[in-house]
Amino acid sequence: MVKVAVIGSSSMDLVVTSAKRPGAGETVLGDSFKTVPGGKGANQAVAAARLGAEVTMIGCVGKDHYGEAILQNFQDNGVHIKYVEPVTEMESGTAHIILAEGDNSIVVVKGANDAVTPAYVKRAKPAIEQADIVLIQQEIPEETVEYVADLCHELGVPLLLNPAPARPISSNVIERAAFITPNEHEAALLFAGMSQGDALKKYPEKVFITEGKRGVRYFNGKHEVLVPAYPVEAVDTTGAGDTFNAAFAVALAEGKTIEESLRFANRAASLSVMKFGAQGGMPLRQEVEEAIR
Ligand code: ADP
Repeated sequence: MVKVAVIGSSSMDLVVTSAKRPGAGETVLGDSFKTVPGGKGANQAVAAARLGAEVTMIGCVGKDHYGEAILQNFQDNGVHIKYVEPVTEMESGTAHIILAEGDNSIVVVKGANDAVTPAYVKRAKPAIEQADIVLIQQEIPEETVEYVADLCHELGVPLLLNPAPARPISSNVIERAAFITPNEHEAALLFAGMSQGDALKKYPEKVFITEGKRGVRYFNGKHEVLVPAYPVEAVDTTGAGDTFNAAFAVALAEGKTIEESLRFANRAASLSVMKFGAQGGMPLRQEVEEAIR
């Protein structure tokens, strides 16, 4: 079993469906309410565990009901939570989602995810040191991403940065990360003023731009390669990127080639979009193996 350490966010999504979206000062009656565990860090940790890796999550939750539910969800999925600490002074991260009139409106409260500081992550150094690969995203403080990039470089552990949600990153982080996986929107922001082709060419086998149902593109040192996605009946693409990143990390850690790893990641992500919910659709290892045959 390969070891994956995930440093990132976890949250509880509070989802309301309603025929009508309330305007300012208005109250409407909704149709349904459910709570669903989410956060890019947690999603990627759960996806990697389902794909057969030994996963250690490094993150924070609040000392509240949602925090307990988030921890329980990690345990149900076999993710190690030694380094997920409940903090007293902050609430668990939450996303408040209204699905109405064919669209969603979301308010995100970062809460305890802001407590994932460099000093906090430093305590998890043993797990990072032992990992075959480290996976990080950008729903935690910027200085933490910077710190982890330096730490992984110092320890010689490959770092996969999924630069989502979009924000500029330092040239130090770009240099130190082994793999960077923006979607097209994030790539446009990261490499502003550069064409996508030039950005890929500048970072061969390091930058991988995911293009939704088209697949993923990179430069292999000689030419640009598009590894096509698998055509499927997409039901809900929430979490496709999270499944893709987890699967790419697991495959790389297992020693698969870049091209094999991208095919594995595309296959896993394509299965995830066939079901509702981010974590709801994340496939088990066996399902990916069967689908790839
Ligand atoms: P994000 O979810 O981060 O915006 P993308 O939309 O680029 O990222 O999707 C990530 C990966 O998920 C794609 O490279 C592809 O492998 C897979 N994927 C996304 N949407 C689809 C789809 N409609 N059909 C098949 N695969 C998809």
